[in-house]
Amino acid sequence: MSDKLSSSLADVSDLDISGTANMSSPQNYVNAQRPKRVTDSPLQTRPASPYTLNPPIDSDGLSWPSLGARSRIEEDETQLAAREQRISDAVKVILTELGEDVTREGLLETPERYARAMLFFTKGYEDNIRDVIKRAVFEEDHDEMVIVRDIEIFSLCEHHLVPFFGKVHIGYIPNKKVLGLSKLARLAEMYARRFQVQERLTKQIAMALKEILKPQGVAVVIEATHMCMVSRGVQKSGSSTVTSCMLGCFREAQKTREEFLGLLGKR
Ligand SMILES: [Zn+2]
Repeated sequence: MSDKLSSSLADVSDLDISGTANMSSPQNYVNAQRPKRVTDSPLQTRPASPYTLNPPIDSDGLSWPSLGARSRIEEDETQLAAREQRISDAVKVILTELGEDVTREGLLETPERYARAMLFFTKGYEDNIRDVIKRAVFEEDHDEMVIVRDIEIFSLCEHHLVPFFGKVHIGYIPNKKVLGLSKLARLAEMYARRFQVQERLTKQIAMALKEILKPQGVAVVIEATHMCMVSRGVQKSGSSTVTSCMLGCFREAQKTREEFLGLLGKR
């Protein structure tokens, strides 16, 4: 085992993994799908959260991957087809339990369609940050604020599995390195295409950018509408949720923060 690996294993969280279950209940099924407590990959020991001491980017380029990210990335076409089939079987159960007739014409192919859609909506687990930013970090003496506003994101709330969507604004002050502007949007997309809470999405984008560029500071603001709120009447429709993450000089210097928010028209 490499030193790098053993040091990350020191951060192992208490995963409740009991892989010995029979398959008679959904919980047993879920437990059986989870990897046993193995020690051959840091991916399987890392909670998918920035609120840990783990580095934002793994040695292999993955960044807060889900427990099953590795097997999704490595599977071949046959295995992918089997995965889609398992998901669509589960969707049939849900539809039936909701009182629907899964054999009626309109729903015939819905489970398969939904399986493929969900795999797409969560494709960010399979993204490797090195591919995302590939050859787009440039040496540059620029040390003024860089802002990309209004990056559209579509994500899924991990509490209700329904969409939230909105706009991300990213700002940073370089420290001799800049990132190709389109890559900021790619970075936001990578983390948005996962099950998320808006607060964590905000922080993941900021921390990844900090790790990639080592800039003087990073600021990320997200404004989003959550279907789980607006469609259930908890809040009036049209309401939006704003989160922010300020790192480095954006956190330390009020003037810098105010300049950023001013440029966003938020002040
Ligand atoms: Zn929700």
